[in-house]
Amino acid sequence: MAINWTEADIEKVIKAVISNIAATPKTAVSNDEWNASTYHGRRLIGVYEDMNDAIAAATRGYKAVRAMSLAEREKIIDVIRDLCRKEAPVMAALGVAETKMGRVDHKTAKHMLVADKTPGTADIVAQAKTGDYGLTLTEMAPFGVVGSITPSTNPSETVICNSIGMIAAGNGVVFNPHPGAIATSNYAIDLVNRASKMAGGPEVLVASVVKPTLDTANTMYQHKDIRLLVCTGGPGVVRSVLSSGKKAIGAGAGNPPVIVDDTADVKKAGKDINDGCCFDNNLPCIAEKEVFAFANIADELISSMLDAGAYKIDKATAARLAEIVLVDVKNKKTGVVSKTVSRDCVGRDAKVLLEKVGIHVGDEVRCIICETEFEHPFVQHELMMPILPIVRVRDIDEAIDLAVKAEHGNRHTAHMHSKNIDNLTRFARAVETTIFVKNAPSYAGIGFGGEGHTTFTIAGPTGEGLTSARSFTRYRRCVLSESFRII
Ligand code: NAD
Repeated sequence: MAINWTEADIEKVIKAVISNIAATPKTAVSNDEWNASTYHGRRLIGVYEDMNDAIAAATRGYKAVRAMSLAEREKIIDVIRDLCRKEAPVMAALGVAETKMGRVDHKTAKHMLVADKTPGTADIVAQAKTGDYGLTLTEMAPFGVVGSITPSTNPSETVICNSIGMIAAGNGVVFNPHPGAIATSNYAIDLVNRASKMAGGPEVLVASVVKPTLDTANTMYQHKDIRLLVCTGGPGVVRSVLSSGKKAIGAGAGNPPVIVDDTADVKKAGKDINDGCCFDNNLPCIAEKEVFAFANIADELISSMLDAGAYKIDKATAARLAEIVLVDVKNKKTGVVSKTVSRDCVGRDAKVLLEKVGIHVGDEVRCIICETEFEHPFVQHELMMPILPIVRVRDIDEAIDLAVKAEHGNRHTAHMHSKNIDNLTRFARAVETTIFVKNAPSYAGIGFGGEGHTTFTIAGPTGEGLTSARSFTRYRRCVLSESFRII
């Protein structure tokens, strides 16, 4: 990354970091120390009561970014990365304390990944076409102010990842974060603003609200200054954003299947699947959600997962657990009752879930496994808990058929453990997912132990894929007739 620091810049940053360290306690968080607008009594920067005020602030932030050079933008992004690394443990602890979901160590690692592997301004590249008629230049321009909806599952990770990409592209950003993770999300928004100030940018670069609701989201959808909507969340909210009438990027739900065939390194597959499935208690949308194992290696796979620390429950216990982790909801319009995941169980430790069915284990158990039929709710629902159903299959035809059905057409993520190139290719073609990971834990798909950049906004429905700065730009063409061709 191109950074042209002067001595004065460095001194400014050191002073700002020192005052920031004083403002940011490193201790674990307790309930009375944080809320949606303050942290340890300090007012969070960029957090407003009214969405219209937040949009006005983000618009001022956008105007300030537009006036900056690329190097100045990159300086702000550098400080965001730096603060994200330093305060990763604080945001991880806050995320777990507020949402009661996930694991502090894994959330810390996710913030480090965001800091290290979210592309900045280098992702913005111009294209040139020259020929008999001269030069045509295509540049990636900002949209203006982006309205971003963020989830409860990776709250501060998504805010920081979106901020880096959107600012690198020259946009302003206003967030409507998940209400269940508002303190954590607003902490991250404050972090971005502190970084901006420290690097010489505007005091408020990105903005948010104290109390996000569907009404504040609607204000965002309808506001004339919001030029692009980006939504990371479940099917309901992605649908609502895509029906807003504005240009929108939708990063929706997944239900990633894993196939293990009889050419795989089964021992490694068992460990990889266990590690991927229990990462942050299965909250990442890319995490392994159900396994289709060839019958002739299924026992060996289960035994390698047990070796890796998983705990196996029998069919009767799985049925009892399903009654607890899935609850009935009635559709307000149609009156139809259907099953949905219990918010009290999403992202909880395996140990806590097992206690609900009277099984007491130690902290070392991270993943619950069970053998089920394809129709079992553990296979069909995106649980986002460390519970992994394993379905035995005859052959590759049955494996692909069932895995594609279990993915439910989300076209999000799928995994396979195999050394058979034909099988790997057939499944990848059939499932058509944005991410396909071969012979590794799921998180390799977002750059954790895998090549490529990271993102926490994987836009399958609208096709941007693993979003980065360039996803938040609009292409503009400049034509210079009959000149500037030097050959
Ligand atoms: P969620 O769908 O419950 O909520 C997401 C956000 O949308 C929140 O801010 C919520 O308040 C808001 N919201 C919900 N319904 C809304 C509506 N109709 N209009 C406006 N705002 C609305 O999401 P969650 O539980 O926090 O996240 C889990 C879901 O998100 C899972 O399905 C997961 O797969 C998906 N997810 C996808 C990605 C991706 O990159 N594709 C990343 C993370 C999470």
